[in-house]
Amino acid sequence: MQTPSHASDQVLIGGTWRAAAGGQTLPLINPSDGSPLAAIARGTAGDIDAAVQAAQAALDGDWGRFTAAERGRLLMKMSALVLQQVDELARLEALDVGKPLKQGRADAIALARYLEFYGGAADKLHGQTIPFANGYTALTLREPHGVTGHIVPWNYPMQIIGRSVGAALAMGNACVLKPAEEACLTALAFGHIAQQAGLPAGALNIVPGLGEEAGAALTAHPGVAHLSFTGSVAVGRLVQAAAARHTIPVTLELGGKSPQIVFADADLDAALPFLVNAGIQNAGQTCSAASRILVERPLFDEVLARMAQRYRSLRIGPALDDPDVGPLISARQRDVVQGYLAIARDTGLAVAAQATLPDTLPRGGCYVAPTLLAPATADHRLAQEEIFGPVQVVMAFDGEAEALRIANGTAFGLVAGVWTRDGGRQFRMARQLKCGQVFINNYGAGGGIELPFGGVKQSGHGREKGFEALYGFSTLKTIAIKHD
Ligand code: NAD
Repeated sequence: MQTPSHASDQVLIGGTWRAAAGGQTLPLINPSDGSPLAAIARGTAGDIDAAVQAAQAALDGDWGRFTAAERGRLLMKMSALVLQQVDELARLEALDVGKPLKQGRADAIALARYLEFYGGAADKLHGQTIPFANGYTALTLREPHGVTGHIVPWNYPMQIIGRSVGAALAMGNACVLKPAEEACLTALAFGHIAQQAGLPAGALNIVPGLGEEAGAALTAHPGVAHLSFTGSVAVGRLVQAAAARHTIPVTLELGGKSPQIVFADADLDAALPFLVNAGIQNAGQTCSAASRILVERPLFDEVLARMAQRYRSLRIGPALDDPDVGPLISARQRDVVQGYLAIARDTGLAVAAQATLPDTLPRGGCYVAPTLLAPATADHRLAQEEIFGPVQVVMAFDGEAEALRIANGTAFGLVAGVWTRDGGRQFRMARQLKCGQVFINNYGAGGGIELPFGGVKQSGHGREKGFEALYGFSTLKTIAIKHD
């Protein structure tokens, strides 16, 4: 067993690491070979209650007295510590998530950048003065919500913690973080980094555990003033319903079926790496994965041939070998993806190219051969549903109107990419795509610390990343002073 550097089977509550109240643990499995990796605490409602109380105590105590500049400095310190530990964090993510080392390194560097960005922004969010009646001065103040709950998935723990916990701390909230039961070693490492940087006890509490236990308890807790949830649509709905019961705001960052749209005038050499990488990065387990490639008919054969060539050359392997594509997170997720490939087979959706799984792969690993499917129709199940694996569908279109109809024709609306040299079309497409982010002649799957991010339709609501997140993690107070 390759153990992490700190004990992993504990919760962090009020500045103290201890066993979960129920004394139970959950196993973490290394998806690269199926071996037991570590045990994590199985936090339950009692731990969540203690964590919320510790967070409130921090707000009423030292943490609540930090100035904005002091919070910013502390986040900068955390950022510097993350940068010192990039290799170790990438190693943990490789073991835990099955993420190839260079992708884990990129996530760790992104975490550091989030902390730097929000550290720098902490004292820059000003209120306003408002012209009002004679004899009054009216103004607005940005205030923290109070205790914020953060429920994160296993696919990008470091980036998602950076963008949600980083922004929440910058605004002066105290956080309770519930990492995913499938992977949470970097979330726990983040807790140690926060302590090392001097974050006051209780400002960040971490309670690993099952979604239906620790997660549900966090969403139901009356002491929580805001919830940030990143995960599946089904659980997002539960979280929103729980938030409604005590009328608190919730940010939902859910799934996607994001298109990249390639027009016949596109710079194909520039587009090609993005077309494939945004589909297979993290073995396709990316909310903003470009899982649909739409190609204007004159270029269809060429794009497909060149993508197919790239697929055939992909290196698959254990995450610590730093391949192009590692395993999926779990045997369950592998079965889901294989189920979709079976649907493709049964419905005549052709395999245009498939990478080869080497014979040397560890037997217990959760590998699926990256697969390119084409030509697909826009209404095919695999062109409509989020697969969350290294599978892309390619389809042809004729003209802008059809491209828009196909691109907007799913239940999701997270990200879209458009490849065209026509300036007018760039703006027309950007304005008419129904999603939260549009990339023109580039595509950032998961990237863009400075760029507000979030979805429409079933991809969720609310925005994280960028300066926008600071509005989400704060509430506005209006003050009207009568002075004569
Ligand atoms: P999931 O919804 O199963 O789990 C996400 C988190 O929710 C985990 O921490 C889990 O323990 C918790 N949870 C589960 N049941 C819960 C409950 N009843 N109450 C409270 N919390 C509960 O999602 P997943 O399979 O881990 O992640 C994959 C999904 O996340 C995909 O749909 C993906 O697109 C989405 N995602 C979205 C973004 C984004 O920013 N939009 C980023 C990453 C992943």
